[in-house]
Amino acid sequence: VADGPAELLEDLNPAQREAVTHAGGPLLVVAGAGSGKTRVLTRRIAYLLAARRVHPGEIMAITFTNKAAAEMRERVAALVGRRANAMWVSTFHSMCVRILRREAKTLEMSSNFSIYDSDDTKRLITLVARDLDIDPKRYAARTLAVHISNLKNELVDPERAAADAGNDLERRVAEVYGEYQRRLTQANAMDFDDLIMRTVEMLQAFPDVAEYYRRRFRHVLVDEYQDTNHAQYTLVRELAGTEPSESGIAPAELVVVGDADQSIYAFRGATIRNIEEFERDFPNARTVLLEQNYRSTQTILSAANAVIARNPNRRAKRLWTDSGDGAKIVGYVSDNDHDEAAFIAGEIDALAEKGEAEYSDIAVFYRTNNQSRVFEEIFIRLGLPYKVVGGVRFYERREVRDMVAYLRVLANPEDTVSLRRILNVPKRGIGDRAEAVVATHAERERISFAAALRDAVEGRVPLLNPRSAKAITGFVALLDELGEVVASGAEVHDVLEAVLDRTGYRVELEESDDPQDASRVENLTELVTVAREFAEFTAEVLSDENAELVAEEEGTPAPGSLPAFLERVSLVADADSIPSPDGGDEGDGGAGVVTLMTVHTAKGLEYPVVFCTGWEDGVFPHMRALGDPAELAEERRLAYVAITRARQRLYVSRALVRSAWGQPQSNPASRFLDEVPAELVDWRRLEPSGSGFGSSGGGTPRAATTWGRRGGGGFSSPGGGASGTSPFGKGWKDTVALKLDVGDRVSHDKYGLGTVVSCDGTGPRATATIDFGAAGKVRLMLIGSVPMVKL
Ligand code: ATP
Ligand code: MG
Repeated sequence: VADGPAELLEDLNPAQREAVTHAGGPLLVVAGAGSGKTRVLTRRIAYLLAARRVHPGEIMAITFTNKAAAEMRERVAALVGRRANAMWVSTFHSMCVRILRREAKTLEMSSNFSIYDSDDTKRLITLVARDLDIDPKRYAARTLAVHISNLKNELVDPERAAADAGNDLERRVAEVYGEYQRRLTQANAMDFDDLIMRTVEMLQAFPDVAEYYRRRFRHVLVDEYQDTNHAQYTLVRELAGTEPSESGIAPAELVVVGDADQSIYAFRGATIRNIEEFERDFPNARTVLLEQNYRSTQTILSAANAVIARNPNRRAKRLWTDSGDGAKIVGYVSDNDHDEAAFIAGEIDALAEKGEAEYSDIAVFYRTNNQSRVFEEIFIRLGLPYKVVGGVRFYERREVRDMVAYLRVLANPEDTVSLRRILNVPKRGIGDRAEAVVATHAERERISFAAALRDAVEGRVPLLNPRSAKAITGFVALLDELGEVVASGAEVHDVLEAVLDRTGYRVELEESDDPQDASRVENLTELVTVAREFAEFTAEVLSDENAELVAEEEGTPAPGSLPAFLERVSLVADADSIPSPDGGDEGDGGAGVVTLMTVHTAKGLEYPVVFCTGWEDGVFPHMRALGDPAELAEERRLAYVAITRARQRLYVSRALVRSAWGQPQSNPASRFLDEVPAELVDWRRLEPSGSGFGSSGGGTPRAATTWGRRGGGGFSSPGGGASGTSPFGKGWKDTVALKLDVGDRVSHDKYGLGTVVSCDGTGPRATATIDFGAAGKVRLMLIGSVPMVKL
């Protein structure tokens, strides 16, 4: 299989080659989008193995998603075969989980800890804040959670947070933070930020542990380095080291690649500083610049360069391509968001029809997850195969979370958040009051919630009424029974089936007449399937010649075990469910599916055809950024990321009116549209003339967008466009009125599917009465951008 070292360098340019073959001190590769940074990393790993005889076990590569990690591993496996398994290629979080499980003893905790996601975190913080008598109106759990997360990303512990607190909010945050950490420890749980922070703390506190990893990982490589936060940066520095350790182990070879213009996670504490000061922190570092872009046409690249050039305080880059101008960017202004989606669906159809692109070549981007709904509706109606990446993810659905909570409690009985979640799910007569009494008992006795439940069984919890005590006894017996299923060595899917049956959860859903419950049953079936596939996959890995290698690797839960399954569930990232370019998993003849996702999720990816949608001030850039230069700069980097995902064809579109929160909202053109040189864009459709827009005279897109901005602010607020003072005059209303007839089927945002039973009035007074089944009959106005489509 193995390519020789020479072949590995053949299709690289001189700068890329330099980065791949560099040996010795730290190396920073900074370069614009599509210049081959990720390619350099993968190639470098291959080269280390082939030319420098590095053992795969000495390599630690950090990627942004599990999917990227799997891809990198695959490419290296193609080169060196199964030995690739000994490499650590993972996300920051997966890597830390692995280290922490391995070192659990050092940290005096048990290695079966639960990993809390943002929802669990918010629940626990809500509980803590309530116990500390914090007014939720003044300090919402969400706000507290964000502040605590920021502190952790800066590696600030509760003591220092308390000492540094300068105002009431900060004091409250520090107080909650301290108690929150105590409860996490008690629940044998960590949140996402802890995974990083605790690993750093451990490496710093235990030099012998740090030494072990230093000895082991001689090569550390980081992709998307611009999006590391302070804690992650420190982790990398601790792992690689900056000078020889006490016993004389030299620092590992560190290679990081990134692009300051693509830093899009400042809101999670990521800091460009990590790039800008790399050379200061690593004085012997070498920097390599890559300037040739291999991804996009010159047209696309010029648009991206022009937009990002507007950002202040950036190092200008020269990014060029020799792939020719290619097609012009297609611009489109639609009357409303439904029309925008319809235009895009039509274009996709045409591209597929003409054989210019397969569905899997195409991606549709939007700024925020909620924008996917309109595309989904239209795509479903037209039968266009698609997949939404991210959004309300499978594992965030209520029924899936309930089941995962059961599994977590079975794996880690101390997991209080999960335990309290399932305490009365399905309803078994343990009410809020009983829960509070048990929680108070736990607090007073300083025991875990699980232990307090056992006390309740034995009648040692004062003030608990006998009925609740009996219900709790039943619940504890149920958990014990399920615990035996786990102990008997049943596979995860069998454990799940047992939970679904013995708790009565499935029966309850099956007997309900709420149509949503039917889809809940489907999701649970899907979860059982996921678990079964997990077992099959594990069996395959274990039967492999490599079983030894896998098994001997410490820090991973036993393959196929419940903890292993839970770890996988906890660590799936948004981008991990992106369909593969060959469309293989969809089984519809190889054309695959169109991918719908947010720009954040699209980072690092590329598609032959990209639709950038919703380019409106207030949408993209996000409303929040309009008055804030730093946020606006981040939005502009996001726009740069969006544009540079496209290889051959780029579309940008916007809607004059968009329904937001069920209200029609009129948005001016995105300022980023204005920043794309006019000669690069072929405007298929502008604002209708006479609609009050500046496009009528002369009709250049610039005139239109400039008008929009001059008038901005006054009417970009939610709902503002619906008022009689709309600058759109009367024209726009006609364009969005929904024409319905008796018998038409519709889908409404709030009420779901319905059938029109009668229509009344005309023009602005048009209404329809619609039968939404379980939701009843509702009479609705048909004017404005109604949050409803005709099916
Ligand atoms: P981003 O900043 O978006 O993460 P990147 O710098 O990581 O981009 P890659 O994804 O590594 O860029 O490369 C972009 C595309 O260019 C890929 O399809 C890659 O295979 C191709 N490419 C990179 N270098 C070369 C080269 N020397 N010759 C041919 N193709 C190349
Ligand atoms: Mg990349």
